[in-house]
Amino acid sequence: MDCLFCKIVEGSIPSNKVLENDHVVVFHDIQPAAPTHVLVIPKKHIASMNEVTAEDLPLIGQVHLAAQEAAKRLGIDESGYRLINNCGQDGEQTVHHLHYHLLGGTRLGALTS
Ligand code: ADP
Repeated sequence: MDCLFCKIVEGSIPSNKVLENDHVVVFHDIQPAAPTHVLVIPKKHIASMNEVTAEDLPLIGQVHLAAQEAAKRLGIDESGYRLINNCGQDGEQTVHHLHYHLLGGTRLGALTS
């Protein structure tokens, strides 16, 4: 399958990993949008949030636990962070493998003001 993040999972494209377990990989974003910016992805290829099924719910839980652990390892758990999923065209999703942006290391600003 021609999927960038599947290639990162299998190691044929290099990445700077923060953590990896049987289900999830967390690695640094190549174009960071904040002082800390990593991507949290399930190893399983799921194209987007729209393709998540009830069967995937334990995996989505693993993604959240990995995000929490990555935040600790990166030292942003106490100060706080944002976990964002972009879905589809209006969400500006460009890589079609489910992923969550974990952003922190600065005050990110309110979403609404
Ligand atoms: P957007 O590009 O609008 O942020 P996505 O939510 O689909 O869309 O995010 C894809 C993310 O993947 C981007 O932040 C991009 O910088 C990152 N990215 C693309 N290629 C790589 C790579 N080889 N290694 C790490 N991150 C990557």
